[in-house]
Amino acid sequence: MFEPLGYEIEYEHHALDEKFPSWGESHYFTVTLKHTITLQLFLSHLYVLIPVMDNDKHYFVNKDEVDKLLSKGEGWLEDHPEKQFITRRYFKNLGRYANQALEVLMEKELAAQEEEEIDEVEKEKKVSLHTTRLEAVKDTLLSIGAKRVIDLGCGEGKLLNLLIKERQFEYVLGMDVASRSLQIAYDRLKIERMPPRQKERIKLIQGSLTYKDNRLNGFDAAALVEVIEHLDPDRLKALEKTVFEFARPKTIIITTPNREYNVKYETLHEDKFRHTDHRFEWTRAEFESWGNELAKKYNYTAQYHPLGEVDEVVGASSQMGVFTHD
Ligand code: SAH
Repeated sequence: MFEPLGYEIEYEHHALDEKFPSWGESHYFTVTLKHTITLQLFLSHLYVLIPVMDNDKHYFVNKDEVDKLLSKGEGWLEDHPEKQFITRRYFKNLGRYANQALEVLMEKELAAQEEEEIDEVEKEKKVSLHTTRLEAVKDTLLSIGAKRVIDLGCGEGKLLNLLIKERQFEYVLGMDVASRSLQIAYDRLKIERMPPRQKERIKLIQGSLTYKDNRLNGFDAAALVEVIEHLDPDRLKALEKTVFEFARPKTIIITTPNREYNVKYETLHEDKFRHTDHRFEWTRAEFESWGNELAKKYNYTAQYHPLGEVDEVVGASSQMGVFTHD
């Protein structure tokens, strides 16, 4: 429960009675947690996780607890790999409440679904929009001479699958918050059956882009393909720091839908997003203004490119920002 949140853990299991070792172990442990975080965040972890450890029902659990859990778990519980276990235990296995809370948390994990919905609409076209996007990202990575690449929010591993075929990329790391997508990626890439030298070139890890993560250091380039629009604005700020300030690869490639183009999708109602989990979709001007501010703040230069067929008025379906620092 604590390790995925970045804690280091030590524990000691106490004997029932030290004088009578044959009596065996007691229920009691001394647990030491180590981490450097704000006190507020630490307290919100304890608020949720202490009742999870103690499964005796001490008090009446009612519906207010759903809101309490969601508010204390905000920003970390939805990304936690054990969120099901935590939620069920928190509600003392009272299914009704656990399910309500899980529904909200899972909605957040809907982010795990890929950007396929609108591709369905585009099916007639020979090359799908998503393939165009992935090829453009791959070509950019090749042209800048990147050797070590991270695919952030790699989903089911489609970009990784293209990258691994190019010898230029010596090492590719895929990271995603959703374990189910990672499992699909692992199978799709057939990592299990790769020859050892190939296997050494690729790795998948679970993690959230909203937390500083040293595993993301030391790369030439990072790609975030259709990821940013899945994050709420305050989480997006955290992602910006993780990627631009801490991981800080020389090149960062970000793609996101161009909202102006939505009028071209007949099946898409006005004011609707292309994917149920999108938190926003930006016009070209909005994306560029966000990108320029980011570039200025973190000392990168930014260039923007349309992805897909360009319409004179509304531009292309998707857009790509390429950020570079010296
Ligand atoms: N890049 C992939 C998937 C895009 S869908 C592709 O182009 O096919 C968005 C992905 O972002 C999902 O896999 C989702 O699980 C992931 N994601 C959303 N929030 C995240 C976070 N905070 N940290 C890491 N990945 C996240």
